[in-house]
Amino acid sequence: MVLEYYWLLRSVLRAKPRPRACLTRCRHCRIFFLTHPRNAGRDNLRCPFGCREAYRKEQSAQRSAVYYRDPKGKRKKADLNQRRRLSAPAGGQKSSARKIPASKQPSTQANPAIVEHVRMVVSLIEGRPISRRAILQMLAENLRQHTMVRRSKIDQAVLWLNAHPP
Ligand SMILES: [Zn+2]
Repeated sequence: MVLEYYWLLRSVLRAKPRPRACLTRCRHCRIFFLTHPRNAGRDNLRCPFGCREAYRKEQSAQRSAVYYRDPKGKRKKADLNQRRRLSAPAGGQKSSARKIPASKQPSTQANPAIVEHVRMVVSLIEGRPISRRAILQMLAENLRQHTMVRRSKIDQAVLWLNAHPP
């Protein structure tokens, strides 16, 4: 998948040299990616494929750890825990676990960070702003075609096996 991505990235940069200035490397996992023009030239960025999100979560966990360490925060946390205990329904943790509705299949849900990255890169390549909606439509169409190609490959394999039984 990464190889395919690099191959695409390279062919894009060959055809359109302009976004080359926006090419950077993730400081965490070292993958190459295109960044927003306002960040062009920076080499301390994290990629949108997970490292940025992971770092953000880590920072926020650290911030709250620091906050709850000081006396004022400690009192607040005790209050919060007290309230949580009082409002928790009898039967414990299990009943409060969120259930994912069956209608929401994870395969059809796009990761918003990835959608935003694709939107930014496509805008960069095309040299015009492109809406999130247009990107979602494009991704849906792309997925549909991929599925069709995959299906027809399987069909062909089945036909071939029928004609040439092992
Ligand atoms: Zn990374």
